Amino acid sequence: MADQRGRVLLADPRGYCAGVDRAVVAVERALEIHGAPVYVRKQIVHNKHVVATLERRGAIFVEETDEVPEGSVVVFSAHGVSPAVHEQAADRQLRTIDATCPLVTKVHQEAKRFARDDFDILLIGHRGHEEVEGTAGEAPAHIQLVDGADDVANVQVRDPEKVVWLSQTTLSVDETLATVDQLKNRFPGLQSPPSDDICYATQNRQQAVKQMAAECDLVLVVGSTNSSNSVRLVEVALEAGSRASYLVDYAAEIDEAWLDGVGTVGVTSGASVPEILVSEVLDWLAARGYADVSTVKAAEERLVFALPHELRRAEKAQA
Ligand code: SF4
Repeated sequence: MADQRGRVLLADPRGYCAGVDRAVVAVERALEIHGAPVYVRKQIVHNKHVVATLERRGAIFVEETDEVPEGSVVVFSAHGVSPAVHEQAADRQLRTIDATCPLVTKVHQEAKRFARDDFDILLIGHRGHEEVEGTAGEAPAHIQLVDGADDVANVQVRDPEKVVWLSQTTLSVDETLATVDQLKNRFPGLQSPPSDDICYATQNRQQAVKQMAAECDLVLVVGSTNSSNSVRLVEVALEAGSRASYLVDYAAEIDEAWLDGVGTVGVTSGASVPEILVSEVLDWLAARGYADVSTVKAAEERLVFALPHELRRAEKAQA
């Protein structure tokens, strides 16, 4: 047993959200029902470990639907797709299973409704992120991307009284509000979305990190570099007072030198991270004198989404 060097604060909630759980189970069920291979457009969720595990079971990840053989089964990822992608899939007679998170679909519906009412829609999000591309594709003529506060000066609208902002679901709550403030300075008539676009899981994970970060010398966030909500957790940890914070996919990526002079280590994980990876980080820390773990609870999560309707139909047909 290693000498006691310090303690661990473990964020709760952390890890899988309802949308990620549904998307991963959707691929697993598709493999069971249709057999391998099942194609998946883009990474089903932004996590290396999850993608590698599903690949071993027969999932083939592609970038675009034109890489999928005609007539095959293809799953759309939790981040959502534009109507153009649905059309391309239909043209190739692909059998689609849409694992878009219902909370992303909600933002798509808002975009369609405001576009129908001829609003200019300012979509706050990260340029190039799949979710943003999917949402923007719902109404390309009405939507402008605002990639953070620095982008506000570039926004042009037709009628400042008919402008609404929407957002990507996995942004930093505080940074988004700062961008909205700047947009409101330019367009006082700016309308807000009918309900939060930043999803409950993103908000709860950031809140848990905020509650513990001031007590931490180091916060380890388990997650992949292309996972927006995981990257935001590192930023939130630093802003909320942790001396250092790093993103790691696996315990093996932790550098022992990060523990120099560290009394309290915070641990959390992004919404696409299976708990096994967090357990491995806790074991790694325990072996180095950080075995005393206390939980910092910010919220209770009970949300569960039903599987995509294509799978529910297929399950019924099998019964
Ligand atoms: Fe859905 Fe939020 Fe999870 Fe994204 S992070 S899949 S929007 S619940």
